[in-house]
Amino acid sequence: MISPTHTLLALAALSKQGDRTRNFTIFTGSLIPDLAIYLWAPYQSIVNGVSGEEMWRVLYFEAPMQNLIAWFNSIPIYALLAVIGFTARGTTWGRLFLFFALAALIHMATDLPVHAEDAYRHFWPLSDWRFFSPLSYWDENHHASWVSKIDVALAFGSIAILWQRFARRWCRNTLKFVAGSYIVWLAAPFILS
Ligand SMILES: [Zn+2]
Repeated sequence: MISPTHTLLALAALSKQGDRTRNFTIFTGSLIPDLAIYLWAPYQSIVNGVSGEEMWRVLYFEAPMQNLIAWFNSIPIYALLAVIGFTARGTTWGRLFLFFALAALIHMATDLPVHAEDAYRHFWPLSDWRFFSPLSYWDENHHASWVSKIDVALAFGSIAILWQRFARRWCRNTLKFVAGSYIVWLAAPFILS
């Protein structure tokens, strides 16, 4: 899935009206697995002056980046954090740990089925096994056009839930903006082609 869908799903599943700390923790947990990529890509292009081509075709698949991705996308690590948080759920930090880890696990659950040739080692450090899915959220050779429709459907379902839950003006304006961005994303291939 694309990053915003992970965040919308996690917020729809776990957020609570009026609990800002919890909601912000869920927001962070849902994005943390993709953080490695967001920090790495600008670093390579701005600091190291690497071209986009070399970055995505060569460096991305080499050990340093693959190891960084493995750390940030490890189901065992987030599961361990969730267990620690659950054990300490009577405390504020325990609850936040739990929500952070659950948001990241929702991200894992929605990435695992849609990564084909770019499959991650989701079970590292326990195993180097990769699930090479027949489906991809971006690769047309792996039914990306269908997967992206499911992506959008999940996003709109989550937006509807969040719309009901959060009535504040800035929340609703943000949801409107996000919904609009998905519509543009859906329409772009038709406009650009
Ligand atoms: Zn991801």
